[in-house]
Order: sequence, then structure tokens, then C-alpha cells
Amino acid sequence: MAVSESQGRAPIQVPCPWHRDEMQRLLDQHGQGRLPHALLFAGATGIGKFRLAQSLAQALLCAQPRAGLACGQCDGCHLSAAGTHPDAQTLVPEAGSNAIKIDQVRRLVEFAGRTAHYGGARVALIAPAEALNRSAQNALLKTLEEPGEGLVLILVSDQPSLLLPTIRSRCQQRHLPLPGREAALEWLTPQVGERDAPALLAAAQGAPLRALGLQEADWFAAREQLAGQLLAVALGRASPAQAGQALAAHDPRVMAGVLYGWLARAAVLAALGEQGGDADPATVTDPKVEPLLRQLAAQVPPARLLRAAHRVMEGRRQLLAGANPNKELLMEQWLLVLVGVDASASGF
Ligand SMILES: [Zn+2]
Repeated sequence: MAVSESQGRAPIQVPCPWHRDEMQRLLDQHGQGRLPHALLFAGATGIGKFRLAQSLAQALLCAQPRAGLACGQCDGCHLSAAGTHPDAQTLVPEAGSNAIKIDQVRRLVEFAGRTAHYGGARVALIAPAEALNRSAQNALLKTLEEPGEGLVLILVSDQPSLLLPTIRSRCQQRHLPLPGREAALEWLTPQVGERDAPALLAAAQGAPLRALGLQEADWFAAREQLAGQLLAVALGRASPAQAGQALAAHDPRVMAGVLYGWLARAAVLAALGEQGGDADPATVTDPKVEPLLRQLAAQVPPARLLRAAHRVMEGRRQLLAGANPNKELLMEQWLLVLVGVDASASGF
């Protein structure tokens, strides 16, 4: 968040550089009275969708937006920044939960039925929208259809396919792509340093905010050790349960994304044979971990590596849909596939 130092100015949320054009388009539409009353920002995790939604919400509630941003000076901006604007609602999972509960949706429905305190726009932000379960989504349908005077609903989703078709069809979907590598690195490098930026971006599959999150979680420092755990399992030096314990310290959704990348890479190396000796150096995305992945490829047949990668991907999908399994057991199940035990066909 960009924070201004001068007295009397509220901090305003600024979209990521690669979303500035989209922000301008949205505000132009609003200016022409053509902004849809329900928007769905869809795209990969960690590209700044929520930030764009917050920036738009603040700009819509601002009395005098300037240059495509909220002004930071009006009453509306001060209330937005304090999180107390009476014409704004944000629905996110409550602490300790992965789900947005139906009670939260009911409060939103009540909010939708009121009129604006400030006579301008009203905004409701829901993120991630896939955290709404089926009944919560159903409770939202009527509001999406008839949102009430001046209300703009902004749904943010990493996985819009998990939303009911009736929800999707009532929103205008804006698919936000991954930023280009150059733009992503330009934003990331000043924050994490030139040395780590490319590897972090690769580990985050090109999503810059996710890359920053990986660094902040000190995940980068632990990576070699974790890849070592995989190898230890493959060599029979550690049990899947022991390795699962070590891996469970990390966010399983982050872990699943990285683990998938490693297993898929090891499968390619294994399929090439000779410990992947012929692999094109340009395809190496993670130089520090590459030697460990080559050893893994020499130990585990490619089909088994692919099966493990597939299980991890299934698990990730369920985690993103709000499942909250025992982390140690989940990791253990993924690793068991490496030693030839595929305990679960469902991923959990
Ligand atoms: Zn303002």
C-alpha cells in the first residue's frame, strides 16, 4: 500500500503497474455510467487482483479521484483507509477459517438493501469468491441480480470454475492475465534483490505478489532442505511421515505449487534418462534445486513422479477450494506415492 507522509492524507491503495490500464478502463466505464454492477476479477493467484479491487473500491468511494486513483484527501478516502466507510463492505474468510460464511453473506444482503450514506457509490468486495460455499453462493444470487441503488459488487477469484454458473453469469468477468516477465521483475527486483528475483518469480510461476510472499515466508531459504527431504524419501533415508512433518511447517497451498513444479521437472529429467543429462540448460527454472531433482530423477521412475505430481495438483485444487486437511498427513500421502504407495485416489 502506498502511504503518504503528509498530514491529513489517507493512505490509498494503488494497483500494480500492470493493472493501471485496466483500472483506468474501469473508471472510464464508471464515468460513463457503464460500469457493470457485478464484476468478477479472475486470474492466477498472486498477480494483484485483490489490490486492483481495493484500488477500484477506494476510487469509487472517493469524492474527487485524480489520475485514475482515489485522492486520499476527501472524507470518503479517510473512511475507506480506516476500513470504516459505511458504504463499503469487504467479505473475506474470518480468522482461522478458509470459508466465507453464510452469515457474512446475509450481512451483505442487508447492506445491499440500504441506501448510500454519502449519496455516491457503494461497494462490496468478496475475496476469494470461491471461499463461498454453495449455500453462501445461493444466498448471494438475488443481490447479484438486483444489487440495489448504486452498489457495485467486486468478486475476486483464483478459481472461477469453482463458482456456480449462476454466479458467474451474473457478473462481468474480467480475466486478468499474468504480467509479462519484464514488468514482473521490474516490480519484484527492488523488493527482493537482483540475485533472488528471477528464481522467486519462477517458483511462483510468474506471479509477482506470490513471489514476494514466498520470500516473506522465508520459504526460499528452506527450499533446498525441502528438496533434500524429497530425495531422502526416494533413497529410503527418511520415511514419508518424517518428511511430511518437515514439510508441514509451510503453507500447504504454497508447498503444493512448488512441489508440483519439482516433481514435474524430475519426471522430465527421468524420462530423458542419464539423470537428465541431455536436458536443455535453458529449461532449468530453479538452479539451486536442480542437482537434487536430478538425483531424484535417477531414483524414481518417471511414471511414479508424474503420479505424485498429479496427486499434489489434485490436493492443491481442493485446498484452494477451502478444504482444511491435516497438513502432515496430506504431505505424507503425497510422498507415499513416490515410494510406490498410492493410498488415495481422491487426493486426501
Ligand atoms: Zn478521495
